[in-house]
Amino acid sequence: QAKAAGKGGMVKYDQSMSERTTARVRLFNRLRTAESAGAFAVYYQPQVRATDGRIRGAEALLRWRDAELGMVPPDQFIPACEETGQIIPVGEWVLRQTCRMVRRLEEAGVPDLILSVNVSVVQLMQSDFVKTAARIAEQEQVDPRRLELEITESVMMGAYDEASRRLRALRDIGFNTSLDDFGVGYSSLTYLRQFPFSTLKLDKSFVKGLPEERTDCAMVRSIIRIAEDLGLETVGEGVEVDGQRDVLAESGCTWLQGYLIGRPMPEADLPGFFAGWPGFSAPAYPEPAQ
Ligand code: C2E
Ligand code: MG
Ligand code: MG
Ligand code: MG
Repeated sequence: QAKAAGKGGMVKYDQSMSERTTARVRLFNRLRTAESAGAFAVYYQPQVRATDGRIRGAEALLRWRDAELGMVPPDQFIPACEETGQIIPVGEWVLRQTCRMVRRLEEAGVPDLILSVNVSVVQLMQSDFVKTAARIAEQEQVDPRRLELEITESVMMGAYDEASRRLRALRDIGFNTSLDDFGVGYSSLTYLRQFPFSTLKLDKSFVKGLPEERTDCAMVRSIIRIAEDLGLETVGEGVEVDGQRDVLAESGCTWLQGYLIGRPMPEADLPGFFAGWPGFSAPAYPEPAQ
């Protein structure tokens, strides 16, 4: 291929390679200073019940605003953090921040909510992860049942038994556990059988085609049905329009998350968002007495 492109093609290829390497090195260098510079923030995206909009809680999503690079999307910097191991302290920080948000929301009178946190498999595979997560919740005086740890399926390839044991230990302590981005990646059904998840998150790529795409509707319905039969709750991700919400609700999806309900927002905005959230169909008049 390079030969056919001639000498010019080769040179061009080399240049873009070195440009990419430079950008990469720069990203890694900036990332190293991010924590001490206070450049990380946790945003929260609300989750509500599919049928009536009752609040479930929110997902914590890490944001990085670098002084030189600007906002860098998590899909770019999380893999870099995983490569260097920086995801371990950063992940602990996100969990701690989220615990503090649980306390804040409890104090604001939002009852029984669950905040979910993404956990990298690099964290999960640390031999002391279970202890660390339990310790953080305890130090922050948060009941682990108020927290959910999200794991992305493709990342568990290879370390089945150990990952399964860790998830079981987390469940035993009280943490909810969810399988993130379900439906993209590998051997999804096997994961459901082998791992102690409490929640399944339907990937937004399935939700996208609703309500028009018949195959997406069929897939979503079947997945929700299987999850239900296995005793798992479901979260539909990436819900942007009413039609998507309606198919998910009719299919028995438990919870919804997406721009239709709310975008990820700075921590300061979340209590107010919940306070002003009307639900989907707050009746304009009292229900008639039975
Ligand atoms: P995720 O865990 O699947 O998070 C959901 C992503 O979907 C978020 O992207 C969110 O902003 C986006 N999203 C939510 N609603 C909609 C919608 O209606 N339409 C569309 N198109 N997108 C929507 P974000 O924040 O860019 O995060 C990307 C990924 O980065 C996350 O995917 C998660 O895997 C990872 N990530 C984020 N924060 C953390 C963290 O603290 N730790 C770890 N390990 N990973 C994180
Ligand atoms: Mg997630
Ligand atoms: Mg994820
Ligand atoms: Mg997801």
